[in-house]
This record gives sequence, C-alpha cells and structure tokens, in this order.
Amino acid sequence: MAECNVCHNKCNIPEGRIGACLARTCKNGKVVPYNYGMITSIALDPIEKKPLNLFYPGSKIVSVGSYGCNLRCPFCQNHEISYDLEDSLPCRYIAPSELADTAVDYEPQGNIGVAFTYNEPLVGYEYVVDTAKEVHQRGMKTVLVSNGCASRAVCEEVSEHIDAMNIDLKGFTDDYYEKVLHGNRQLVMDFIAHAATRCHMEVTTLVVPGYNDNDDEMERLSDWVAGLNGGKGKETIALHISRYFPRFHLDTPATDVDKIYHLADIARKNLDNVFTGNC
Ligand code: SF4
Repeated sequence: MAECNVCHNKCNIPEGRIGACLARTCKNGKVVPYNYGMITSIALDPIEKKPLNLFYPGSKIVSVGSYGCNLRCPFCQNHEISYDLEDSLPCRYIAPSELADTAVDYEPQGNIGVAFTYNEPLVGYEYVVDTAKEVHQRGMKTVLVSNGCASRAVCEEVSEHIDAMNIDLKGFTDDYYEKVLHGNRQLVMDFIAHAATRCHMEVTTLVVPGYNDNDDEMERLSDWVAGLNGGKGKETIALHISRYFPRFHLDTPATDVDKIYHLADIARKNLDNVFTGNC
C-alpha cells in the first residue's frame, strides 16, 4: 500500500491495484504510472485546436493522449479514454525517444513539437517529463493541455520542461469544483499561477448552463487571470470561453451562443485576449 501525492485525491493504493484516475498503481510499495507511454490517440493537430492562440499561430503539433483522469466531469468530452481501463482500449507503447523522433519526422509538415493532451496528462506526468526532455534535445517545443489538478511538486517538475500550457479553469466556485467535478479549485489556481511564471499560459473555461454561466463568476474569474504574473496576465494570458454540448452523463442542452458572446464581453473588460470556442 502506498499514498499517491500527485493530486487532491491522495489515493491510498494497495499493492497491484490502481488509483481513482485508473492510471497509477502500487508496485513494490511505490506508486508508479501504470499508463506510462501507453498511447491511445496520436494526431497532427493545428496548434489552435489545443487551444493555443498566442503560441506559434498557424503551426501544427503532434498531439498524444494516454488514458485516465483524476476528475469526474459529468460532461466529459473524452470519456472513452478518461474513464476506461487500458485492457478495454486500443493503445500502443511509444517510448519517449520514439515519440520525439516522430515529432522531427513531421517537421516538414509544419510540426513544432509534441502536445500532451486528450486524457489528463498529469496522471502520468513522468512520461510527460521524460518525453519533453527528448523533444527539447531535438530543438522542438512542448505543450501541455491539462485540468491543472496536480500538486505543487508535480507542477514544478513539469513546468521546467514545457513551453506552453492550456489549463482548464472550469469555473470559479469551490462548490462547482468539489460537488460536480470532484476536483479542487485552489489546487488548479495555484497550478496556473505558478506555471504562468515558467511558460506561456492560456486558460480555458467551458461554460455549462446553470453551473458556471453567471456574469459575476466570469467577472471574478477573468479579473483573477488578469492579475497573474504581477498584473501582466491582462496582456499575456489568453482566456478561451468555450461552449458546452451535451456529452457523457449530462444532457443539459448546449450553451446558447449569445451567452458565450456575452460572457466574452465581460471577460474583455479585464483581459486583452479573449477567444470564444465551439460557437
Ligand atoms: S493521480 Fe490518480 S492515483 Fe494519484 S492521487 Fe490522483 S487520482 Fe489518485
């Protein structure tokens, strides 16, 4: 039995069993990433799809995902790879050096590096760090797309090797984070605040009707982002306000497009770079 300190769940994992994220196990009394290098999806995506709008715009990036997640969002867009076990998923092992070589192979097609995305990459952060080092050795860029629900120690280790991040800030109330997503808002805020001092940062908020769509919440959220990096967040950190569609366990109708535009106008009072998504 060993305790995992990667995220707020602090799972006590018995020998040979797995944690709540389905991605970490206990081996010889030590917590290790069970999903290390097990890739379920790989694609050459436009960088704007991450979404990153202020980092090498117009470029492409080799994007990979494994399986597992430490949140339980009822509207998960990627539930097949977030909540399923390795045994039931088609995946193959790709070593860090092999993935970095693949990134180089795609350079002529506009590729700038590797993005860790699709599932929650930080539940297997060791693979992110090992691969990012190989990618940097080849002179290419690294990107992380994450829910940011990870400890300070993980944040510090990963931030050293990542050039740009898009981190979800899914709402701005503890209630929403704890009761709906089974996460921890403060952990995410601490992650964003620290990582933003180390690499390029963009933030995404998925607006779900009746959960996180009021004006006051967007006003406070965007004001907080603007204040990061000693107030430089206003100019340097982009906020992506994204439209929800019914998925997985949630059948609430899709967010009105007008609501997204309205909330974007509120955020623009605090931030220079606000983008709408899925509209
Ligand atoms: S990363 Fe996974 S195993 Fe570790 S505490 Fe979080 S949910 Fe549990």
